[in-house]
Amino acid sequence: MDKTIAITENIQKIRQDFPILGRNINNHPLVYFDNAATTHKPRQVLDALVHFYSHENSNIHRGVHTLAQEVTGKYENAREKIRSFINASYSHEIIFTKGTTESINLAASSFSKRFVSSGDEIVITEMEHHSNFIPWQIACSERSATLKVCRITDSGELDLDHFRELLTSKVKLIAVTHISNSLGTVNPVKKIIEEAHASGIPVLIDGAQAIAHSRVNVQELDCDFYCFSGHKMYGPTGIGILYGKEKYLNDMPPYQSGGSMIKKVTVKETTFGDLPLKFEAGTPPVGDAIALVAAVEYIENLGFDFIVNRENELVNYALDKLETLSDIKMYGHAKHRAPVISFLIDTIHPYDTGIILDKLGIAVRTGHHCTQPVMDKYNIPGTVRVSFAFYNTIEEIDAFIIGIERVKKILKV
Ligand code: PLP
Repeated sequence: MDKTIAITENIQKIRQDFPILGRNINNHPLVYFDNAATTHKPRQVLDALVHFYSHENSNIHRGVHTLAQEVTGKYENAREKIRSFINASYSHEIIFTKGTTESINLAASSFSKRFVSSGDEIVITEMEHHSNFIPWQIACSERSATLKVCRITDSGELDLDHFRELLTSKVKLIAVTHISNSLGTVNPVKKIIEEAHASGIPVLIDGAQAIAHSRVNVQELDCDFYCFSGHKMYGPTGIGILYGKEKYLNDMPPYQSGGSMIKKVTVKETTFGDLPLKFEAGTPPVGDAIALVAAVEYIENLGFDFIVNRENELVNYALDKLETLSDIKMYGHAKHRAPVISFLIDTIHPYDTGIILDKLGIAVRTGHHCTQPVMDKYNIPGTVRVSFAFYNTIEEIDAFIIGIERVKKILKV
């Protein structure tokens, strides 16, 4: 069979797994290009959720009855599945949270309480999502420490010379995104970690945009913390991961307190449980953790070779097409880029572009993408962002390009 026909048939088969992709929006077939905000969920994940609530639902860790025992086992298996997915050394280095945001807040709060004092510094970068910006701003202000921000270049890459200048003996941690959600830049995180470690500084990686697009191996990266969300990797909302090296997590105080995270509570004092439960106070998102296993299996069945090739093909096709259009200004020209494109059409406000595209059934994201410092750098109110997943098609990109022409015509550019 012709290779192109085979790929098209394969993608059509994959799309059948995602019921939402069959929807019409405003009388047009949905073109979903907002995968950096959240990805859709395959039937396998939806079935896992329905199965959990229909047949397994129970609380974990505290019950002797059959359902509680079964579900505790499945929840802990989910932890082990995530451990092997990112190749962590131990499953107790995997903390379930409700998403990247909570993972970073936990790390920023607990790490800084234990390791950051007055006069110390934390380094982040100008391209961080607010989730990897504000928790460090708050931590620094609470600890009388200073937040240092590594600049980005005009092409939207980290200024590595500036980064090196910031590596002083005062720095207690570096927090950097693996992939920029607003520029698509893939950062050289392995190199950053190596250089930081050479100065004895631990590194937290915000992996929200990376986890679904390439294989992450935390031991190979040697990062000290890695954070991501289930909903950006074809899993449910409400579940996320904080990976942390045992040596840091053991020393960090709990983030929240309550049920499940204790050894002993008396009227005088409380002693805390061991990892990972020390950081999982209260009832965790049990069903979501179990359904996340189905998402990981889905990704593993497709394989990262397929995913990376497919997404590169889509982003390169879209970039080529956009370059043929006049009055398009792109933001983010990194050599190594993810399937994310940010742009503006002439002086048209991104919201106007987004609204007209939505009338054509095309879902794009508009605004500052929770990266206001990036928008400040380029002195723009926001961008239009398209972000792809393996289930997107070349035909959808063609429809989007026609949509852009339509926007230009309606708004007379
Ligand atoms: N970090 C990056 C780079 C992101 O793109 C996002 C979400 O878009 C987040 C953090 C926050 O993720 P969540 O909202 O799932 O907590």
